[in-house]
Amino acid sequence: QARGGSDRRRRRIGIMGGTFDPIHNGHLVAASEVAWVYDLDEVIFVPTGRPAFKLNKNVTNAEDRYLMTVIATASNPRFTVSRVDIDRPGVTYTIDTLRDIHDANPEAELFFITGADAVAEILKWKEARKMFELAHFVAVTRPGYRSPEHMRAQVRVDTLEIPALAISSTDVRHRASRFEPVWYLVPDGVVQYIAKHGLYSMK
Ligand code: ATP
Ligand code: MG
Repeated sequence: QARGGSDRRRRRIGIMGGTFDPIHNGHLVAASEVAWVYDLDEVIFVPTGRPAFKLNKNVTNAEDRYLMTVIATASNPRFTVSRVDIDRPGVTYTIDTLRDIHDANPEAELFFITGADAVAEILKWKEARKMFELAHFVAVTRPGYRSPEHMRAQVRVDTLEIPALAISSTDVRHRASRFEPVWYLVPDGVVQYIAKHGLYSMK
């Protein structure tokens, strides 16, 4: 079937949630692969406001994380960035993200993208059951993490094997703080943004 055009196929939207502190190439490959395999029309990157599971951690301010996400995704016509989580007061819960994006795109089929490390957590998320009514869940493989078989059955997530990139934001922050290179782990514009604003260097 032809894409777009006159056929009445429902729009297929991926949602890539994350702290993105900073966004790195592992996030971008995950979104790109899911978009390809699931034939998505768009992937919306959604930087978190206050992440529920990182309340005790220092997270870079939302505007910097948002701008780095915009810079990293700007060249891809199917990638967009949403402010729904950073503009919603209080702690970020994925159920609210899904509701907001569903309300803005009531006709679309939604696909929530996570890494394998998040699968073990999903059942602890607020209103987990309702999340599965609003979106399909796709867990991508991530080096160093396995999503346990029994969890996958309980939470009804698909697993998708993607090219392995052993990159984490934690590691990028540590490297930046020691003035070690982060080139090619994050997009060039993000390297430059980190340097320009002195992010991570004093932590
Ligand atoms: P941090 O180390 O600060 O937790 P992170 O690298 O895990 O950062 P997050 O913003 O926490 O990045 O991740 C957002 C989403 O992207 C999560 O679902 C996570 O599992 C997934 N993800 C992150 N890095 C990778 C990677 N290298 N490969 C596949 N998925 C990833
Ligand atoms: Mg993480």
